[in-house]
Amino acid sequence: LPRNIYRDRPNSSGLEFGHRAQLRQLCEGMAGADTLVAAKPLIPSVKVHGGSVDVRAPAEPGRVVGTISQARVADVEAAMKAARKGFERWSRMPADERGAVLGTAGDRLEAERDRFMALLSLEAGKTLDDGIAEVREAVDFCRYYGHQAELLFSEPRLMPGPTGEENRYGWRGRGVFACISPWNFPLAIFLGQVTAALAAGNAVIAKPAEQTPLVAHEAIKLLHACGVPEDVLIYLPGDGEIGAALVSHPHIDGVAFTGSTATARAINRTLAAKDGPIVPLVAETGGLNAMIVDATALPEQVTDDVIMSAFRSAGQRCSALRILFLQEDVADRVLEMIEGATRELHLGLPQNPDTDVGPIIDEGQRSMLAAHIEDMKRTQTVRFSGNPPDEGTFFAPHIVELDKASALREEVFGPVLHVVRWAAGTLDRVLDDIDASGYGLTLGVHTRIESRVAKVIDRLDTGNVYVNRNTIGAVVGTQPFGGSGLSGTGFKAGGPHYLYRYAQEQVVSVNT
Ligand code: GLU
Repeated sequence: LPRNIYRDRPNSSGLEFGHRAQLRQLCEGMAGADTLVAAKPLIPSVKVHGGSVDVRAPAEPGRVVGTISQARVADVEAAMKAARKGFERWSRMPADERGAVLGTAGDRLEAERDRFMALLSLEAGKTLDDGIAEVREAVDFCRYYGHQAELLFSEPRLMPGPTGEENRYGWRGRGVFACISPWNFPLAIFLGQVTAALAAGNAVIAKPAEQTPLVAHEAIKLLHACGVPEDVLIYLPGDGEIGAALVSHPHIDGVAFTGSTATARAINRTLAAKDGPIVPLVAETGGLNAMIVDATALPEQVTDDVIMSAFRSAGQRCSALRILFLQEDVADRVLEMIEGATRELHLGLPQNPDTDVGPIIDEGQRSMLAAHIEDMKRTQTVRFSGNPPDEGTFFAPHIVELDKASALREEVFGPVLHVVRWAAGTLDRVLDDIDASGYGLTLGVHTRIESRVAKVIDRLDTGNVYVNRNTIGAVVGTQPFGGSGLSGTGFKAGGPHYLYRYAQEQVVSVNT
């Protein structure tokens, strides 16, 4: 049974995807069409909406990918009313039936992968490799959480107790969950949050990122077509105002959020201040992710892994490498190799098979990166910068050598690698510096000294540690993903406990 894929195969990395040239043609074909997706809020019984605006490809500003009609704040009330009704039915559906619906959605998404990849490439600027990886991850989330629903929530468990008493321990959905998702994984993280909340028995109001409403719209329609009722899953595209209205609504029972630490804090404050139940926040935020390289590491492998970790997806992953700590003894040699490899990276249209680095999501993000580099140039050494294409919101990979780690305190979300040298015998200081950032999402360690790996893991509570490999692309069900401290609340996405945050327990004790 494909739905039970996690019993014998951990993920969909064996999936066959179309030939790259065909995928490119498909993207080109889609790009040529007048309007690919005309998206509008999907709220049962709400028909009237404001005007629509064009969604443009970040790599080709002249190209309209589709149109979006945003929800109005007044729609939040209608969405909530519908979702409350939907929840009554959905939460009573046996967990294995809910799981089966999600499994079907995974199959359907796999079958329609080309269309979704093309949309990811055009709307979100995903390269073909990134598009393939993202569709796989989304398929995995549907199947994994579908299977987990069955595993965790099917039957109430009988607890031990005295004779004459039966204690049944079970789970149910919390109610209506708001899922607020980021533009950097507009399909995988979007569907990950949504399918987790649905699997646990909740109704969902999903607000996609403003930059990427179209692929989210198509994903919601796919779930509806697979059997998730329209009042159980509501699509509510809009700006921050809509998100704020949703989060502060007295009838919201839970919030799943992936994005910046600052926004997660703001959501937390809103939830604390609002009327109604005390609700959980599942937040996955940023990271000031480090990689420690010592003199025993293999320079070629370090180079590959650094390039992949820092520049894949144009560095627009929360798992991406931000600060590389290079041991002084090998620093010049390794840096030279990294700079050489960076120069080889090809920036271009994401749908071209030879593109390594696609565009930045929008002009706001691009100018934030440009300002950061200007700022760094004043006090630090900017060792490399390449030439981006003239058109589109591109930003060349940069390497900035810092005189000390504390010169960087905030996550810089893009293709900028910061490098700090450390002298033999000062590893403890490096670990202190990493710890001092307060973040704890991903960490890379390149060494052939086993006791050093053990020491690093013992000292730091970073959520995902990668040893002698790159630090991105956590696989659902294999590398449960999420951080500590400023990086998020847990539980880890794609892990065996994630669904618990979306459900509530109930114990029934019967005098028999
Ligand atoms: N799960 C992704 C990875 O391991 C990153 C998710 C994110 O950027 O938010 O690369």
